[in-house]
Amino acid sequence: MRMENQAVLEVQGVSKVFSTHVKINRKRLVVRAVDNISFTVRENETYGLVGESGCGKSTAGRTIMRILEPTEGKILFQGENILERKAEGLTRLRREMQMIFQDPYSSLNPRKPVGKIVEEPLLIHRIGGSAATRRELCLEALKRVGLREDQFYRYPHEFSGGQKQRIGIARALILNPKIIVADEPVSALDVSIQSQVLNLLQEIKTSLNASLVFISHNMAVIRHVSDRVGVMYLGRIVEECDALKLFRRPGHPYTKALLSAVPEPSPNLRRERVELQGEVPSPHSPPSGCAFHNRCAYAKEICAASTPMRDEVEPEHFVECHFAAELLRVNQTQRVMAEPAILK
Ligand code: SF4
Repeated sequence: MRMENQAVLEVQGVSKVFSTHVKINRKRLVVRAVDNISFTVRENETYGLVGESGCGKSTAGRTIMRILEPTEGKILFQGENILERKAEGLTRLRREMQMIFQDPYSSLNPRKPVGKIVEEPLLIHRIGGSAATRRELCLEALKRVGLREDQFYRYPHEFSGGQKQRIGIARALILNPKIIVADEPVSALDVSIQSQVLNLLQEIKTSLNASLVFISHNMAVIRHVSDRVGVMYLGRIVEECDALKLFRRPGHPYTKALLSAVPEPSPNLRRERVELQGEVPSPHSPPSGCAFHNRCAYAKEICAASTPMRDEVEPEHFVECHFAAELLRVNQTQRVMAEPAILK
């Protein structure tokens, strides 16, 4: 029997609905940015959340961290529903749950030297005691992310994009969190330094014995870092499974289309290109039935009429599609995608 690591984070039926100022027939227009998503992150696991821009993945990340309050659902951290925590309990919780932001340029205070930025979480959580001890802890954190001691007194503008993101990682790791939510942590960086930061994140995760929720629009990056993957479309997780399985045999047409757009240098390993039809629908008024039906090459009449339910098409492989089982059979013979060249 396979022994599974314990769940650290359980997201159960979480939605986030924004109310806008626009009114139609005297009713406020609402945007369902995250729509009833559920997933579990286990100990030492990296869970990749992937999808096009605007699919709700960053909102999902911020909702998990309670930067945004969910409209409905439960978020269990080590078995406890964190939505029941009040302000003080939330501060204690943030010590164990840390976030790394997409934009390293704006996520660091330009008026503070790096040492002070990394020290801030220690002050907020009253860790370290004396100033000398906190300095030691900051220097150690900077060293762990590959920065030098003499950079302690420098300001963010003196660093490159990759170094700034390393500072963001140092700020997150200094509290020894149990889970890190990284929202597009490399998308603002040059391709040449993306893999360095990704490898650093993996090293830090392993050394802290932590779990990671990795949010990205880039399938190649997701494959490189993830143990399991959730694919989001218009606020919903339409497919979820083990990363290797997902890249070998996607069960949802949307996943298949995303994978086919990953550049593959070897002609022998290239996938058949799947062109997405039509435009991304507005989340104000998502299409009826399956929200993907107006772009899906496999859509049939039933797709516009009925919303597909989350179905376990094979062990630990969940898909929201009326025809997932058929698609899996077709993909059975598909070749394994090569490692993305950029990350080698
Ligand atoms: Fe395509 Fe229909 Fe499956 Fe939706 S339910 S992904 S429209 S085949």
